[in-house]
Amino acid sequence: MRDLLRETADRAARYLDGFGTRRIAPDLEAVGALERFREPLPEAPSDPAETLRLLDEIGSPATTLMGSGRYFGFVIGSKLPAALASNWLATAWDNSGSYWRVSPAPVMIENVALGWLLDVLGLPADCGGSFVTGATMANLTGIAAGRHVVLRRAGWDVEADGLFGAPPITVVVGEEVHPTLVKSLGLLGLGRNRVVRVPVDDQGRMRADAFPRLAAPAIVCLQAGNVNTGAFDPAAEIIPQAREAGAWVHVDGAFGLWAAAAPARAHLMRGYEAADSWATDAHKWLNVPYDSGLTFTRDTEALRAAMSITAAYLPAGDQREPAHYTPELSRRARGIDVWAALRSLGRSGVADLVERCCRYATRFADELRAAGYEILNEVVINQVLVSFGDPETTNRVIQAIQQEGTCWAGGTVWQGRTAMRISVSSWETTEEDVERSLEAILRIAGEVRAGQSVER
Ligand SMILES: *Cc1c(COP(=O)(O)O)cnc(C)c1O
Repeated sequence: MRDLLRETADRAARYLDGFGTRRIAPDLEAVGALERFREPLPEAPSDPAETLRLLDEIGSPATTLMGSGRYFGFVIGSKLPAALASNWLATAWDNSGSYWRVSPAPVMIENVALGWLLDVLGLPADCGGSFVTGATMANLTGIAAGRHVVLRRAGWDVEADGLFGAPPITVVVGEEVHPTLVKSLGLLGLGRNRVVRVPVDDQGRMRADAFPRLAAPAIVCLQAGNVNTGAFDPAAEIIPQAREAGAWVHVDGAFGLWAAAAPARAHLMRGYEAADSWATDAHKWLNVPYDSGLTFTRDTEALRAAMSITAAYLPAGDQREPAHYTPELSRRARGIDVWAALRSLGRSGVADLVERCCRYATRFADELRAAGYEILNEVVINQVLVSFGDPETTNRVIQAIQQEGTCWAGGTVWQGRTAMRISVSSWETTEEDVERSLEAILRIAGEVRAGQSVER
């Protein structure tokens, strides 16, 4: 076992060393070689080192360097050294992070991490929390607690009796809601199509003047950080209206919630502390390994009512038992990665990580604008939308950038306009990465546009 783990560490280190020189997306040859995985199920056991070798020799070259400082696709984030190392040790423990009496260390560490998260994100210190797979499940978990509360107030026990015959719940989202939140609503039986969609402005922010009159039972889903523009719904104007109507207010802050950790950006989160539940990802901006989503709820008992198996499954002790607050029972001890990231960064390190990403995003926007390209969003945090001309030209530039390999950014359509989206979310991104990437983007965009005019 010791030799195997040493070899694993060596191979992993070699993989990470390649970040300086390798292209971001794998080449066609490496992708083609993946066919080697298509072998019949072996009839007999083999040396584990041989399996590791196959994984590294064929698998590693066909990965995208998503943790690289020059990967700007989606909203991804890398993995901090302390988080990766602690994740490995925790995997060696192979402990379920469910109950104190199953194993105490993961529970203690998760409980500490929860307190630190509430502190660094500026949320009420007595909130409950769940460590889940990602923001899709975190939204589901927070809204499930809301569903419990708004129906209990209407005299209905949804966990016991389900939704058939229950008083209908009005669910409000913004027109630019993340599609995974709509999926969560479907999973919860609240329906993907029966939501009320509030009109938004040109940044995708819910228009407070268009917020509907509501009657209970109702759930309002706000967004802190639109995946395209990074924009924040006007929580300070909407939450009081929603609360007046007796609605539960849930916040999808998959990456935007982290703005609260950086003093210069914290104003964007003003008013959000008055919500009832919040969802975010640690695998995005906190830079821990997948999978790591988080839910926080002001009403801890509601979260427990929605998520616990039954009160009698195992006797309660003095510790907060993670399994009472999550959709899963057995699961990896996810709190460990979050704890390690927060402990190694400290308050100032988290603030610096967030602020640095925002600063680099602003630099991308400034230099692309100075070169004559249109920036489609107000760059408030780490997201930049750039157009290189008409949709066809923009798409050709994006494709050429991805093929060239210095950096990687994806395409999107923002309110009818085709754009390249740059998300700066990795702790590994340096000033030099930004310069190298800008040089490549400007050179390639120039070449694509010049080539087109020659063709014409
Ligand atoms: C990424 C994202 C999600 C989904 O998160 P997963 O971790 O991929 O499940 C939801 N909402 C927003 C705003 C996001 O950016």
